[in-house]
Amino acid sequence: MATINYLTTIEFDFGAVAKAAELARAGGMQRPLVVTDPGLARGPVFARVLDVLGPLEPVVYDRTPQNPDEDAVMAAAAIFRQSRCDGVIAVGGGSPIDLGKGAALMGTHDGPLEQYAAILGGIPRITAKMAPVIAIPTTAGTGSEVGRGALLTLRDGRKLGFISPHVIPRIALCDPDLTLGLPRGLTAATGMDALTHCIETFLSPRVNPPADAIALDGATRAARWLPRAFADGSDRDARWNMMMASLQGGLTFQKGLGAVHSMSHPLGGIKEPVLHHGTLNAVILPAVLRFNRSHAAGKMEALERAIGVPAGGDLAQFIESLNATLGLPRSLRELGVTEAMIPRMVEGALKDHSTATNPRPLSRADFEALFRDAMQ
Ligand SMILES: [Zn+2]
Repeated sequence: MATINYLTTIEFDFGAVAKAAELARAGGMQRPLVVTDPGLARGPVFARVLDVLGPLEPVVYDRTPQNPDEDAVMAAAAIFRQSRCDGVIAVGGGSPIDLGKGAALMGTHDGPLEQYAAILGGIPRITAKMAPVIAIPTTAGTGSEVGRGALLTLRDGRKLGFISPHVIPRIALCDPDLTLGLPRGLTAATGMDALTHCIETFLSPRVNPPADAIALDGATRAARWLPRAFADGSDRDARWNMMMASLQGGLTFQKGLGAVHSMSHPLGGIKEPVLHHGTLNAVILPAVLRFNRSHAAGKMEALERAIGVPAGGDLAQFIESLNATLGLPRSLRELGVTEAMIPRMVEGALKDHSTATNPRPLSRADFEALFRDAMQ
């Protein structure tokens, strides 16, 4: 049995953000909660979005932390209720979009937040009461603009997935103009997240040939255009293609991710150091690809052919060399992860919702070995 879902209306091109107010109104929004983060709130991209939303009565929440957590979700949801908002417009990378989804959930559903986590049986508890979300990505990586999940860190430090078809944004406005000013480091890290989404979902054993085709095209596009977007942020073709690769990664989330995300999710829940999701995936990906090879050799060869991995090399080596080109770290140790953190990370990875769709089953010992490999 194959379950295949494509639900979001996507407006994709330079200038797409200009349609935000018209589409929000058409979707019944007059008083949206506009969610972003403190860095974006001060910049020209957010000013442009607020300008476009002029005909509406937007209420702004701009305190999204780098890894969105329960306190921030509940604060945004309280503003949603107090201001009698009728929808959420999330502007930013994965963190504001996931926080926006959390606010749309907790602004319309009773607490506590924990009961809606996928691994705690929360999927059927998220209902059609959920407020509509419009996502406006300002990075090319997350895919959350079309994703059915939000990754949120509970007060006890667990970073969990909140997943439901009702969590999928009704509309995604993908405007590559908004990414032209993205700094090089964020271009690299978020772009590697997009590439990881395409690779992990392609390797997932769940049957969904349409999603496989999208993932393969997205991986090819990301591998080809990310070095160009990194080298010259004003390259419009590169920005357009990276935003498309990011969207394609998000469209394939329904196949489920794999061990890279199982490992990066608990690491992203650590309070100190604060670790970037895309950077973590880039660092972890080669070790997981080597681990998975025996159980997904044919698919890895298809990826290698599509991406154009040089003869004699393999996908893991290709990713290591791409990471070097992009100036990304080589190991978790370089990011400040210590041996003492690993046992708790292994527990988190074992329970993560992405573990079930890794092509090769994982034991505790496997995760211990993978974390050790990624520490080198
Ligand atoms: Zn990701």
